[in-house]
Amino acid sequence: MTNPDHRIPFNWPHMTGKELQHIAEAHSNGSLAGDGPFTKRCHGWLEARTGCKKALLTHSCTAALEMAALLLDIEPGDEVIMPSYTFVSTANAFVLRGGVPVFVDIRGDTLNLDERLIESAITGRTRAIVPVHYAGVACEMDAIMQIAGRHRLHVVEDAAQGVMAAYKGRALGSIGDLGAYSFHETKNVISGEGGALLVNAPEFATRAEIIREKGTDRSRFFRGEVDKYTWQEAGSSFLPGELIAAFLWAQLEEAQRITEDRLLSWRRYHELLEPLEADGILRRPIVPGECQHNGHMYYVLLAQHIDRQQVLDEFRRNNIGSVFHYVPLHSSPAGMKYGRAHGALDVTNRQSERLVRLPLWVGLSEEQQNRVVSVLRRAAS
Ligand SMILES: *Cc1c(COP(=O)(O)O)cnc(C)c1O
Repeated sequence: MTNPDHRIPFNWPHMTGKELQHIAEAHSNGSLAGDGPFTKRCHGWLEARTGCKKALLTHSCTAALEMAALLLDIEPGDEVIMPSYTFVSTANAFVLRGGVPVFVDIRGDTLNLDERLIESAITGRTRAIVPVHYAGVACEMDAIMQIAGRHRLHVVEDAAQGVMAAYKGRALGSIGDLGAYSFHETKNVISGEGGALLVNAPEFATRAEIIREKGTDRSRFFRGEVDKYTWQEAGSSFLPGELIAAFLWAQLEEAQRITEDRLLSWRRYHELLEPLEADGILRRPIVPGECQHNGHMYYVLLAQHIDRQQVLDEFRRNNIGSVFHYVPLHSSPAGMKYGRAHGALDVTNRQSERLVRLPLWVGLSEEQQNRVVSVLRRAAS
């Protein structure tokens, strides 16, 4: 499939070319259920690449976060600190267990959880902190891990956008007790729907396998460690089949190249938009020196005097896909019902109304990026 030149889609799922070959191999292996040879290869890759203790493929990042909530034994009334500026799954996973999301404001530079506000949100019911690495740019993990250590809280990294990104050289998702990746088609490395749970704290390794296999010790049985498998605790089916793992393997093999290509486009936008920032039209993303990002997303924050709707309309008229997000969770119907805001969340409210995401995908051409930027300049002046 080729991309019609006149239209610049917001996202264009990248195929490496090897996906169908691997799926054919899984098909002829005749092993289609989860945890077959391709799943094991993906696990090995993730463990080697991130340094996590155990990697487990899941149906989605949402599923990995739900596993995290089960592993943490979240009970009704338990509080979980997270940003309001995030995707719904960050909160849903804990709400499903009766947990209460406590929404903390974000930093003005990275739009990540503001680590300076976390401690004042901690109560006797707080159980965990869930930093979300927005746009693959790391949260201030040293500070967050110190706070968690001081208050004996767990840390679950929502690293949905963070595959191949790092903080001070450490892979995102491998720093907290648990980390969650997404391989959704809109992310960098994809399998349509897909995800992984990274287990870093060794005490969760055995239970994570059990929870993912319907609450049974089936994984240990297959390794010959027990002579029958039985129901051990509450769990569900969180593992993907081999066809998905085969597809994902083709992507993981190319993960470095995919990341480099996206970073190239990211840097090109960054250069092209410098004059617009100098003219006070917008603010470009800020990536602190300790963060090695993965080119997941290019966004701009429009200046107060620019009408965002007008910019989005102008993109649409020019056949350019662009989106904004997030509607902050604390202001959404379910967020108000299940969670609570800690403080006024001024940065969240302000930045979420100014943000526009630009098309970014593997194969986006320089000419297309020039067009995006010139439409943006026209719409904003
Ligand atoms: C995409 C995303 C998710 C959900 O990922 P799925 O794999 O679609 O379940 C969760 N959190 C964040 C921050 C995301 O960007």
